[in-house]
This record gives sequence, C-alpha cells and structure tokens, in this order.
Amino acid sequence: MLPQVIIIGRPNVGKSTLFNRLVGKKLALVDDQPGVTRDRRFGEAHLLGLDFTIVDTAGWEDEDPSSLPGRMRAQTEVSVQGADVALFVFDARAGLTPLDEEIARWLREQELPVIVVGNKAEGRAAESGLLEAFSLGLGDPIAFSAEHGQGLGDLFEALLPHL
Ligand code: GDP
Ligand code: MG
Repeated sequence: MLPQVIIIGRPNVGKSTLFNRLVGKKLALVDDQPGVTRDRRFGEAHLLGLDFTIVDTAGWEDEDPSSLPGRMRAQTEVSVQGADVALFVFDARAGLTPLDEEIARWLREQELPVIVVGNKAEGRAAESGLLEAFSLGLGDPIAFSAEHGQGLGDLFEALLPHL
C-alpha cells in the first residue's frame, strides 16, 4: 500500500490542478473507487522519486453555510481513512478567506500532519497572501504553482518526513 496524501481546500484554489500535476500522465489510471463518496478522486502520484496515492477532495465545494457540519463530518471520515498527511491548499493571490480559516481551524483539530500550500504563487502577486498564511498555526506555507509546476522541490521536502 502506498502512503496517502489528501488535498483539502476551498473551491477554486487549484486542488484539482495540483492533483493533475502530481498524477501527470497516469491520469487515465485515476480510479473512482466505487463505494466511496463521489466527492473524492484517487490517483497515483509521482514526485521526484516519491510514490504515493493522492486524493483530491471537493468536500467544501458547497458554499451553503448551513451544510457545513455535514461537510465537516464527511471530511473527518475522509481524513481518518488512511491519509498520512494533508495538503491544505489556499490561493496565495487571493489571500486567506473566512472559509480558508474555517478549514484551517478544523484541520488543527485533526490528528493529521498538515502541509500548507500557497498555490497560484507564480509572480509577486502572492507575496502578501503567503505572509498571511504564517498566522494559520499550521507551519510555514510552501509557495507553489500547480499550473506552472513551481514549488515541486519544496513540496517534496515537506512530504518526505511524512511518507
Ligand atoms: P479546485 O476547485 O480547488 O479544484 O481548483 P481548480 O484546480 O479547478 O482550479 C481553479 C482555477 O485556478 C482554474 O482556473 C485553474 O486554472 C486555476 N489555477 C490552478 N492552479 C493555478 C496556479 O498555479 N496559478 C494560477 N494563476 N492559476 C491556477
Ligand atoms: Mg476541484
């Protein structure tokens, strides 16, 4: 069994782009795993010699705040089901939103190591967003660009101790 890395974050931060970046040409092998909830996608990821299962989630896609407890429960289930580490992805250009902070608060309560990934960090527009992320209490953020493939070395180094 490969170690498992789960991608968590609010909609539109680039979770699926990150998933595709790490799965690459193996995308065709992505397994929708019948029997598990449909808001998860599994793939076999390769990163500089590290092999792991990557899980793309869409648990916070529903913006209706009234369904938050249900989504939290669903995500709790996901996280305890065999994940070794979570990638908390935020949009470093947009900076932190209340939903990001909500998710971060929830993640701090889990017994899962978390790596903070500031995506869309190509160029200087991400600098203040990355600084904001230090306040989350989840460790130093990685400056990343899923679209441009930047930050892969830093992600590798952050993952290494957990896999
Ligand atoms: P998800 O909802 O979190 O899965 O986000 P997606 O992967 O669907 O991406 C949302 C949008 O952000 C898309 O338009 C992507 O092209 C864009 N995006 C993803 N990664 C990057 C990045 O590194 N830089 C920039 N500028 N845009 C990105
Ligand atoms: Mg997505």
